[in-house]
Parts: sequence; C-alpha cells; structure tokens
Amino acid sequence: MDFHAVVGPGNGDVVIVGAGPAGVSTALMLLRAVPSAASRLIVLERAKFPRDKICAGAIAARGERVLRELDAVPDVPSAWIHGISLRSAGKEAAVELTAPIGRVVRRLEYDAALVEIARQRGVKIVEDTQVVGISPLEEGAQVETTRGVLRAAVVVGADGVGSVVRKAIGCDGAGSLRAQVVEVDTEPTSSDRKASLLHFDLNDTTLAGYTWDFPTIVDGQRLMCRGVYQVRGAGDTTDVGTRLDARLEALGLDPTQYKRKRYAELGFARRAKIAKDAVLLVGEAAGIDPGTGEGIAPSLRYGAIAGRFIAEVLDGKARVSDWPRALARSGLGKDLLLRSTVTRAYHAGGRSSIDRFLTRSPRALRAGCQYFGNQPIPRTQLLRLVFGAVAQTAWHYVSFANSRPSTSPM
Ligand SMILES: Cc1cc2nc3c(=O)[nH]c(=O)nc-3n(C[C@H](O)[C@H](O)[C@H](O)COP(=O)(O)OP(=O)(O)OC[C@H]3O[C@@H](n4cnc5c(N)ncnc54)[C@H](O)[C@@H]3O)c2cc1C
Repeated sequence: MDFHAVVGPGNGDVVIVGAGPAGVSTALMLLRAVPSAASRLIVLERAKFPRDKICAGAIAARGERVLRELDAVPDVPSAWIHGISLRSAGKEAAVELTAPIGRVVRRLEYDAALVEIARQRGVKIVEDTQVVGISPLEEGAQVETTRGVLRAAVVVGADGVGSVVRKAIGCDGAGSLRAQVVEVDTEPTSSDRKASLLHFDLNDTTLAGYTWDFPTIVDGQRLMCRGVYQVRGAGDTTDVGTRLDARLEALGLDPTQYKRKRYAELGFARRAKIAKDAVLLVGEAAGIDPGTGEGIAPSLRYGAIAGRFIAEVLDGKARVSDWPRALARSGLGKDLLLRSTVTRAYHAGGRSSIDRFLTRSPRALRAGCQYFGNQPIPRTQLLRLVFGAVAQTAWHYVSFANSRPSTSPM
C-alpha cells in the first residue's frame, strides 16, 4: 500500500498509532471538533480486528461517558456492575448503587465494535500495519511502518504499554510505577460475591497489590475473571503466577485447567515525558492508574482531551509541546496525579491506614462507586469523607506514637 496515496504528505495530517480505546476515542473526538479532518487523519494498527487484548474488561461509566457524548457506545455482551466489594484488614465491605456504575466486557468484542463505529464515521483505520520508528522532520515527523513511510504534522502514540512511539521520543518510563498482572476466566464458585459487584481483595499484605474477581460473559456464558495485580518495585518478589495458583486452589479450582493470560501495565508519572516535537502520547502509552491498573476509562478520557487538543493544534491555537500542560489542567490529569500520589504513599508505609479507612468507612466505598459510576457526589458527603479521612489518619498516628516504646530517660 502506498501511504502517500492515503494521506498526502505535508502539514495538517494526523497519524494515530494504535486502534485501542485511546487511539479510537482520540480520532472520534478530533472528528467531532473538526469534521473536515477525516481526510487528513489515519489510524495505524498492527493487529487485525477482532483482536484480543489481555484485560479483565471492567469499564467505569465515568470513562464511557466520553463515548456516550459521541454517541459511539459499543453494543456488546456485558456484565453490568452496580457496586464494589472490598476485603482488607480482615474485614469485608460492599456498596451497591441502584444505577449501573459500569460494565465488564470482552476486549475482543468491545474494541472491534468501537473500531467499526469509528469507520462508519469516516475514520481511516489501516490494520496489519506496525509502526517501527518515528523520526523528527523540520516540520512534523516521519512514521516508519511495515508497509512504508508516511509524514504527519502530528503523531499520536496510542500504542499501549509497550509503546514504540514512547521509546521513539526518548521516554523510557523511568519514574513510572509498573505492574505485573495475570488473569484467568473460570466458572463461578459458591464463595463468589453477587454477580453485580466487582470484588477486590487487599487482605494479603505480602502482595504489593490486590486480587480480583469480576463477573464476565464469555460466549454467552457467565464466568468469573480472576487475577492478581502486583506493583513492581514495592518489595514483593513472589511471582504473580504462583500467587494466582494459590488463590485458585483456595477457591477449590484446579489452576492447570485454565488458560493464563499475563501482561504488564504502566502507571502515570507526573514527570514522565508525554510529548516531544510533533509527537504526543495518550492512553497507557502515556500512563494509567498505577494503583488499580484501571486503564480503559482513563484511555477513553485521554482520547476526549487529546482530540480537542489536536483540533487546536491544527488550528494554530496550540503547539504539541503544550500537551503536558493541557493534560495537567484536565480532570483526568488531576485524577491520575492524585492516584499516583496515593499509590506511592500506599506502598511506602500508608497501606494499613488506607485499607482500614476503605473498609471501615462505608462513605469512602460509596464515594468510590459514585465516582467510578460517574454519579454526582454531594458536597456534604464529600466534606464528611474528607473529615473522616483526616480524623482516621490523625487517630492512626496518635495510636502509632503511643504504641512505640519510650526512649526518653525515666
Ligand atoms: C491483565 C490485565 C487486566 C486489565 N484489566 C483492566 C480492567 O478490568 N479495566 C481497565 O480499565 N483496565 C484494565 N487493564 C488495563 C487496560 O487493558 C489498558 O490500560 C488499556 O487497554 C489501555 O488502552 P490503550 O488504548 O491505551 O492501549 P491498548 O488497549 O493496549 O491498545 C493499543 C493498540 O495499539 C496497537 N499497537 C501496539 N503497538 C503498535 C505498533 N507499533 N504499531 C501499530 N499498532 C500498535 C495494539 O495492537 C493495540 O491495538 C488491564 C490490563 C491487564 C494487563
């Protein structure tokens, strides 16, 4: 394929690398902002759809709001979620809301449906085309692919955790928290929680992370997706596969019976480079929530912000180098900064107080559900929550100080 026949070389062309949630939502939002950009935009994807992505598939309504606004919500089999249950510090708590707060999908179906919607809107998505390098030009950048070379005024790296684009702009992910994750789909067991809940288990404090049990629908059958999320570099060296085996055995399941899927995740870090010259990063290529590994909803939100931002770049009202500032000013940027700060504090000694706060304060869990579900959190509820968190932290430190043996002379 001659790319130059698809996209004319020169200014005004946008190349998006990767047709996952971040890449496709960026394309859709750019077309919403500048409908005429369809002929100047191309999405390059190394896989062929339907393609799978190792992922538990839980999507927060907060992120899908982006697609609802674009009237682009994929209609695929879904396990609808109304609440969250959490086990930690020897206690378990659950909160369920009336309206769904999200759903669990299969990425094989979801991503293919989203790509199809984008195509129907006029987005050119070229599959089976791997980007192998990016080189800066005096104006724009050159994109090298397995099918040839093309030029663009703006290149968007939406190519996920192993991003070639991120490496090409010299960002090695230093300073970002990374995670190892492994999952399997099994039949439900009698110890599973209600099928309307996402269950997180933080009870094992030797695991630098958590285990999960999410309801999921595979080929029309209701199963459970179970997995282990482990933050790297937080002092836990036990292999995640070994941990998953132990967990399955504890549930009475034979680990050898299930296909294991294992992958890495990359967390957002404030100082990580996410733009250089004509290139900017979105989605997991830029970094997602390092605390939970939630990446689909953040990636959709990245796309919404980036699509509008690129429209401004094409209009001459912004430069690509403004991208880190635009992200930092957005709700997503503040959210990711807060989550990465809390994750660092959690793994640097704050775990016991945070765990205790989460399971002993139904308000905190309820607010978490409302936030995930994009439902309003009344100001009084928020104030009570902040007050509770401050009181709990103060109580924890006073108890801690009182429990330490005195070193002062009698
Ligand atoms: C085990 C596991 C469980 C998870 N569970 C959840 C969950 O329940 N909920 C949640 O919100 N998040 C979850 N995540 C995270 C989530 O899967 C990702 O954060 C999310 O998919 C990121 O979206 P993205 O669009 O940035 O990247 P991706 O979805 O990874 O899409 C990137 C696309 O780019 C393509 N690509 C890559 N390199 C190139 C290249 N060189 N050239 C061309 N194309 C390329 C890929 O083929 C892919 O289609 C999980 C992750 C793992 C590993």
